[in-house]
Amino acid sequence: MPPTKTAAPDAPPPPRDGTPRPPSVDRLLSHAALQALIEAHGRTRVLETTRAVLAELRSPAARAAGAPVDYAPGTLAVEIGARLARSDRPGLRRVFNLTGTVLHTNLGRAPLPEQAIAALELAARHPTNLEYDLARGGRGERDGLIEGLLCEITGAEAAACVNNNAAAVLLALNTLALRGEAIVSRGELVEIGGSFRIPDVMARAGTKLREVGTTNRTHLDDYAAAIGPRTRLLLKVHTSNYEVRGFTAAADAGDLAGLAHDHGLPLMVDLGSGALTALERWGLPHEPTVQEALQDGADLVTVSGDKLLGGPQAGLVLGRKSLIARIRRNPLRRALRIDKLTLAALEAVLRLYRDPDRLAERLPALRLLVRRPDDIAAVAARVAPVLQAWLRDRFEVAVGPCESQVGSGARPADRLPSVGLAIRPDGRGSRRGRGEGRALEGLATTLRELPVPVIGRVTDGALVLDLRCLEDEQEFVRQLGSLRPGQGSGEG
Ligand SMILES: *Cc1c(COP(=O)(O)O)cnc(C)c1O
Repeated sequence: MPPTKTAAPDAPPPPRDGTPRPPSVDRLLSHAALQALIEAHGRTRVLETTRAVLAELRSPAARAAGAPVDYAPGTLAVEIGARLARSDRPGLRRVFNLTGTVLHTNLGRAPLPEQAIAALELAARHPTNLEYDLARGGRGERDGLIEGLLCEITGAEAAACVNNNAAAVLLALNTLALRGEAIVSRGELVEIGGSFRIPDVMARAGTKLREVGTTNRTHLDDYAAAIGPRTRLLLKVHTSNYEVRGFTAAADAGDLAGLAHDHGLPLMVDLGSGALTALERWGLPHEPTVQEALQDGADLVTVSGDKLLGGPQAGLVLGRKSLIARIRRNPLRRALRIDKLTLAALEAVLRLYRDPDRLAERLPALRLLVRRPDDIAAVAARVAPVLQAWLRDRFEVAVGPCESQVGSGARPADRLPSVGLAIRPDGRGSRRGRGEGRALEGLATTLRELPVPVIGRVTDGALVLDLRCLEDEQEFVRQLGSLRPGQGSGEG
């Protein structure tokens, strides 16, 4: 590449107003500080960024602002380096989830166990037998690789995996009820996270929704009365992100299965969060399991891989062999198929279920859910003084009880006792009333600007950091040294 010529040999005279003349790009790039940046980021990007910075300094807007312009190469290199570093920051970043919602959909739901990370690294690095039958030396089924494991754990006859549970529901309905009707209770027409609405998914699956009952009460007779020649299946949806309380009734899954089978129809249960094992064992509230749904007589059960199961994003369809075989033949399956990295991670997670005694140690989602308040309190006692010192006298940090929730729609009404830090603007200062709200929002912004952004929640005039999910205490404390509160753009 020829050297870039930007300044003519006879450069223009300095502007009359006495502002200094910008250095030539060539001269700048040969400066040691910029050479170091070229080493790190490559010549093309440093050149482009340098030009952009110089153009801004020369722009009429900058002139009009009247601030003195510093063209010293060292000063320019700092600005150029900062811009390059900012644009190098990945879009997807690690954060500290201190929201108190353990399986937070916006924060990536379940963290994966080491075993799964090793498995997905292997699948990323090497060719695998993803769709290759090693015994026969011919084509195989990718989800056939883990079908046996899924059946062993859940007692299902057969199983298939797709990209996520929304895909599992779509695929199952499209296979079993295309151009027919699926009967579902009005109390179960759920919306999850704004983008997954059971009625909308059913419509796209080519299934007509036959709603029965009322929001709070649906009886077996309501289903029975709706069964007709176009009925293809009965659908029960686990109302995972809300709870209807008070005067309520829902048909029992076992009775529904009986009714469906009397009419030669399948019962499909969308469990959503669905656990693969009884969580009471660890003192957690009961969450319906896949095993229970199958024992109740469900012919197909769908669940998410990254909710209570604690694995990667995936959708599992479990149940009767004949139905799973039909699902496997659906051409849509190709569009919804599970990715090889996901499959690798999912298999490793499922293997952990074979040893329930060590599951809570090994599976991070479960480990966080069962974490004891006194353990969390010990973290709070260590972290609070560091945070208080960081915030100096601008805010007051108090350790106190708070409540976590499972998240991802599981057990919406249940709370897990936890311990958190409640941060309030120091009341002795000038921050009162509306100023306090602004101070809290500013602090929340500063915490999000840390190298590993910290996400809490603002409630009752305090920024609360629930420490249930803080396992990497060292990193949390270490990074507080990198940015002073007040340096962030939003604080103050
Ligand atoms: C979460 C959920 C879904 C969607 O699952 P994804 O894996 O997020 O696609 C569907 N149905 C129910 C009942 C759910 O709780």
